[in-house]
Amino acid sequence: MQLVIKNLSKTYPNGVQALNNVSLTINQGMFGLLGPNGAGKSSLMRTIATLQEADSGTIQMGDINVLVEKDEVRKALGYLPQEFGVYPKVDAETLLDHLAVLKGISRRSERKEVVKALLQKTNLYDARKKNLGGYSGGMKQRFGIAQALLANPKLIIVDEPTAGLDPVERNRFLNLLSEIGENTIVILSTHIVDDVKELCSDMAIINKGEVLYQGSPADALNDIQGKIWEKRASKAELETLRTTHTVISEKLVAGAPVVHVLAELAPGDGFEPVTGDLEDVYFSYIFGPVVRASSPSLSPE
Ligand code: ADP
Repeated sequence: MQLVIKNLSKTYPNGVQALNNVSLTINQGMFGLLGPNGAGKSSLMRTIATLQEADSGTIQMGDINVLVEKDEVRKALGYLPQEFGVYPKVDAETLLDHLAVLKGISRRSERKEVVKALLQKTNLYDARKKNLGGYSGGMKQRFGIAQALLANPKLIIVDEPTAGLDPVERNRFLNLLSEIGENTIVILSTHIVDDVKELCSDMAIINKGEVLYQGSPADALNDIQGKIWEKRASKAELETLRTTHTVISEKLVAGAPVVHVLAELAPGDGFEPVTGDLEDVYFSYIFGPVVRASSPSLSPE
């Protein structure tokens, strides 16, 4: 199954254009949707999840017309929203059982099995009797995945799931995502480059409602090789560099600013070539025009 999004646009009543002619083709496996805050990720995720309307465009999921056949989508969907609220005074096992009833698993014995398997899969079985209000951020997110997996979804959407998790919880959560079935589309929306780097075979970068890149992380890396240049700059120098070069990142390394710029040709001025990583890819698309070497054009059909 494929999820095919064509020319999707959305402007909110306050005039903010959250999605501008978005076209994406998403295959089974882990798909990373990468973009800064305000890029339009949640708007896109909510539209796919049938929680809000688009102004124009189409979304096709296998043979389901997503924007029209909402009930069909909802049966096939597992959704973990950015703000995943839980009932604090209910324990995980009870809530999952209740949600399973709502999902239509009416036989008690079957529900018991499903709930147990999901609690085990998400490593929450030992904490199943604990009220959700006492769960850590990571445990809540894993519970979110457990509820999203009820009724064997074909499409799973997780919106900014690792924000606020400590490194151990983040790893555990990403490992859990990567174990989700091969026959499923998993869309991971995030502003954290490492989430995508570690998990996704395919990705898109979006900003200001527009798709700037779609392809594999490997192709994106290829496209920028030879175009990323590095220099240690003084703080005073930084100001000038920002106006004369396409500065894609500024980091402090041992207290001194290190600048990366995007340029087709050696910028001189003491810049040295460096091997670009996925963060350079991301910032290159967000802050500068990347001339793509290997991948097809993104222009809408
Ligand atoms: P992201 O998930 O990438 O942070 P969003 O889709 O939440 O991006 O937001 C995209 C843009 O749309 C932002 O400028 C945001 O302020 C705006 N926006 C989001 N939801 C609404 C809404 N319900 N009404 C008006 N503007 C909104």
